[in-house]
Amino acid sequence: MNENLTQIFNLLTQWYENNKRDLPFRRTKDPYKILVSEIMSHQTQITTLVPYYERFIQRYPSAEALAESSLDEVLSYWEGLGYYNRAKNLQNCAKTVAASGFPRSYEEILKLPGVGPYTAGAISSICFGEKKASVDGNTLRVLTRVLALDLDIAKEKTKKVIASRIEENMTEDPGTLNQAILDLASAVCLPKNPKCSLCPVRDQCLSFNKGLTEVIPVKSKKQKKVIENNEALIIEKDGRLLFKKRQDESLLNKTYGFPVLKRDLEDGKAVKDLAKDLNLSLPVYLGSCKHQFSHIQWVTDVYLSKANDNSKLDGFVSEASVVPTAFKRMIEVYKKSPHK
Ligand code: SF4
Repeated sequence: MNENLTQIFNLLTQWYENNKRDLPFRRTKDPYKILVSEIMSHQTQITTLVPYYERFIQRYPSAEALAESSLDEVLSYWEGLGYYNRAKNLQNCAKTVAASGFPRSYEEILKLPGVGPYTAGAISSICFGEKKASVDGNTLRVLTRVLALDLDIAKEKTKKVIASRIEENMTEDPGTLNQAILDLASAVCLPKNPKCSLCPVRDQCLSFNKGLTEVIPVKSKKQKKVIENNEALIIEKDGRLLFKKRQDESLLNKTYGFPVLKRDLEDGKAVKDLAKDLNLSLPVYLGSCKHQFSHIQWVTDVYLSKANDNSKLDGFVSEASVVPTAFKRMIEVYKKSPHK
């Protein structure tokens, strides 16, 4: 228990009672309706979603009504909100709920289709009073500021740390606290130029007191995508493709694949040189493919050379137990090419 945080949460709850946004889903504790509002709020501004929410609830006032509808009709009520997978997941949730009732604990709510920790935390705290946090980017901003934590809010681990800090100091009414934090984030503790002079927890806020409100939260920039332009050489012998185990490669080390070389300024030169060294036929261009690794994209021109009995094929094998997807994409190019 952190006394400072307990005091902050009490002040936030009091502030919320007088300053909360009047939203239609704040007037209910029906878990189905809270679920609809929470799923709609992902990727959508609260003010935008209100008319959609009202129309949706009017047409589908219960999980049973939503479960029985055709997906096409559900999607028509979602039109304009985007991210249509959310609507499909919501209807799947409704089917589960219609069949077995609404789950009443955080852990069970988390099992509903498309429901993550944020939504499960919101529903379980608002509707069932469970002492669970619902942590999104807004919550992370407020909490790292009041506690002056220089944790990277882009990291999943930070979400867990903040959720634990909230849950350890949770007030008697967890749903109200979760909503109070969100309202403070949207009206006062803004990402840029927070309105600290209007903030109910200014005296307790460590970032304010230490002059850190412009440097917290810390958010690492996403790594830029790096594109590597490559040439790959597929070697065929007697109608079979040859693979070689990659050694000391930065990507896919120790897996079986084809030789992949950085593209030379002159197209095809890298593989032509290799084919010459291995005593293979002149490489024929088959096509190109892309493969995305976590931070590098391979854009690969795929070539084919045929081997003969005098080719130097040390280490090449015609059977590979597991072929990584990056190489499977090259095999697709090979299969589709009329030049093979
Ligand atoms: S004092 Fe400023 S930085 Fe701290 S919580 Fe309030 S608005 Fe955010």
